[in-house]
Formats: sequence, C-alpha cells, structure tokens
Amino acid sequence: MEASRGCPFSCNFCVLTGHEQYRYRPIDHVIRDIRDRMVFNERIPGLTGDTFAFLDNNLGGSPRYLRELCEALMPLKKIWGCALTFNVLRDPELVRLMGLAGCRYVYTGLESLNPESISSMNKGQNKLSEVREVIQRAFASGIVLSFGLLVGADGDTNEYLERVPEYLHDLGDHCPTFLGIVCPYPETPFFAQVAAEGRLLPGVTSRDLDGYTLCHRPARLHPSEAIEHFQRLSRTIGRGSTTWRSCSSARSRRWGSRGTSSRGPRGGGRAASRRRRGGDASLTRRAGGARPRPAPYDSSIGL
Ligand code: SF4
Repeated sequence: MEASRGCPFSCNFCVLTGHEQYRYRPIDHVIRDIRDRMVFNERIPGLTGDTFAFLDNNLGGSPRYLRELCEALMPLKKIWGCALTFNVLRDPELVRLMGLAGCRYVYTGLESLNPESISSMNKGQNKLSEVREVIQRAFASGIVLSFGLLVGADGDTNEYLERVPEYLHDLGDHCPTFLGIVCPYPETPFFAQVAAEGRLLPGVTSRDLDGYTLCHRPARLHPSEAIEHFQRLSRTIGRGSTTWRSCSSARSRRWGSRGTSSRGPRGGGRAASRRRRGGDASLTRRAGGARPRPAPYDSSIGL
C-alpha cells in the first residue's frame, strides 16, 4: 500500500532530494483500498492474516496527515508497518496513536550515531540525544523500531566507527537491520560534492552504486579504512542475520584492504590492476603504511 510519495526532507545522499515533492492520497481512498481491494491471506493463521505494509518513502512526511490516517485505520483493526522519519517518533502522542491504529513495525533511517556525520548528510531531523528515548517509546506503544546505519559519511572517523558497537550497546543492544556504505548516487547533492572535490574513486561504474560498495573517498577516512570498518561491523553487529550476511565484505573488497584479496566477486580486475600499477596513489600509500592516522575523535555523541 502507498499513501504518499516523496519526502519533505533533503538528505544530501538521497535520490529523492530535489526530485520528488512530497504528496499524499486522500485518506478515504487509502482506507477504501485497504478495506475493499487488498487481499489478505486468510489461510495464514495469527497476526499475518490481517497484516500489510505501507511502502511509502516516508509515511510521516506530514504528521497531521499521519495522525488522520491513524484515526481512520483504527476501525479496520489491521496490523501494519511503515518507514518514516525520526521527527515523527519524537512525538509521544503520535507514536501512541500509531500503536493504537495497529502499527507494529517502523523503519527509520538513523544513518549515523555521529553528530558530525548527521550534519554532513543534512539530516538535522535526527536528534541523536533522543535515540534511546525514541526506541523505548516505540516499544512501549507496541512498535518494533528498526533502523539503518551508514559507514563512510564525511563526519566518520576511525574512532567513531570503532566505537559503534559500544554505542549500540549503550542503546540496549538494539541492532540496526541495515548497514550500508554512503553512496554518491548521480544527481544527488552528495554526488555533486564528491565529484567537485575529486573524491569519486577511479573505475566506479553504475553497478557499484549498490549501497554496499565504496565509491568515494570519505573526508576523514582512507578508503581502505572505511571498508575495514564496514566489514568488521557487518561481521560483529549482525551475525546471523540475512541482511548482514548480504552486506558483508565480499563486494567491497574490490577497493582493497589490508590482508584481503583485491579480487572482488566481479573479479576486481580493473581496480586491482590499477592499484598494482600504482594508479591510485593514496591506496598505494595506505598499503605501504606511510599514511598517518587522523587526529583522535573528540566529539561526544551525547547519548
Ligand atoms: S528522510 Fe529519508 S526519504 Fe527523506 S530525504 Fe532523507 S533519506 Fe530521503
């Protein structure tokens, strides 16, 4: 089911930014579709027999609309899930209303626990000091809250990425369901920025724009460092989960990292041979161990 399209926010890496205006359907049309046109599989017992998901990019793009939608959903007694932005979850009354209307699952793009990375992504709607409270509030309303984290944002440092498991532990070991690498999708502000600054990695093709392959040089990390952190976090945070297995190290290897083969699943041929020829000077420098580590990360994430 879709009730809306687009998003009112402007995260710099998002393909919607600058391209999709936020708009939503009349609530009575949405309710009619759920009530009269949606086919539920009655043979599946339990909760799933009356369950559906909103596929909207941001069901909470208009909190007023979401509030009215929840009120209209209540009599249907359906179970549903959705994706929406962090600002909605900061509103206790709205979260409670969502729970009463049958919402049991919410995905939100938290993206980072590092305020400098949040700022670099233009994602000011995410208030990191409220993450713990927001998770607990959702649970108290019967809603499972899952979130995504990204590696390689311009605020990321070795010190921050090394401490991500610790930060997650402080949040109650609430694991993200998605771990990716910030991707410079063409025609996004992030792409324009890294291209203008000469930070697109050589040899990147459209098939690399999958969210799991490093395509740019992060501002405060060497590419091989970003990949190592991504691989380590993929292994340690999400062990056992399908999502995490799928975003594990293999695809990133093509950009090289210490102690791993430079041959990726697609052969890693051009990038690997370019490195062997010394075509990417910085990668060569990193492999030689001559590059100094960045200054210690000294910013509190305020959790
Ligand atoms: S909040 Fe989500 S959907 Fe909206 S612009 Fe940011 S990343 Fe895109």
